[in-house]
Amino acid sequence: MSESTLRIGVVYPAVLGTYGDGGNAIVLAERARRRGVAAEIVQIDLGSAVPSSLDIYTLGGGEDSAQAIAAARMRVSNGLAVAAERGAPVLAICAALQVLGTEYTDAAGRIVAGLGLLDVVTRPRGKRAIGELVSTPLVSGLTQRLTGFENHGGGTTLGSAAQPLGRVLYGAGNGAFDPNLPEPEPRYEGAVQGSVIGTYMHGPALARNPELADYLLSQVLGALEPLEVPGVAELRSERLAVCGAEDQN
Ligand code: GLN
Repeated sequence: MSESTLRIGVVYPAVLGTYGDGGNAIVLAERARRRGVAAEIVQIDLGSAVPSSLDIYTLGGGEDSAQAIAAARMRVSNGLAVAAERGAPVLAICAALQVLGTEYTDAAGRIVAGLGLLDVVTRPRGKRAIGELVSTPLVSGLTQRLTGFENHGGGTTLGSAAQPLGRVLYGAGNGAFDPNLPEPEPRYEGAVQGSVIGTYMHGPALARNPELADYLLSQVLGALEPLEVPGVAELRSERLAVCGAEDQN
């Protein structure tokens, strides 16, 4: 960690900030501060290259046109790739998951190269997935159900170097899902590769999933004391109950 302050990047919020995912950085900073760790949120504006020196990176979702701007901007500097290479945690939501993949189809139907930090490919899924998304985590160290809100037209297929973040209990997740056909099973959500986590969960994801927030923080800060934040348990119960997927513990 640089000096004694945890530095959390928000990459290009002007274009990857449509869905309130900037809240993920606020949750990370606040959960660090409540444990006595100084934390600073670094908003990276479109005119700047992504620095490679930050401790944690967050990237949010965006509309197709905004996503294209973010992708073009990120392609001209390799700061995020350098940071991921040294193991800095990166949390990429929805459009950012797609942009960090090897390629995706843009709004005009063209196949566009991504940054290649995740071995995933995204294509139009035919029908937009909108609604609650609940999954069982598949990553060691995560035990609580993951809850978020998905809103995407792209469907994402994982290559062999990436693992899914969760197995879907409710919602669409990564893949194609035609409501006129029987649901394909199993369905998966998100992608994990090294220190990079991509997910379709808005919410913001870390407000709904404090265990995931602490998972990211602990990669920089080491083992963390438990932290109860008033209202979070109620938020989780309410969101999970809507899907008939209440926490098991
Ligand atoms: N534009 C992308 C899609 O629709 C991502 C949307 C988002 O970030 N919510 O698939």
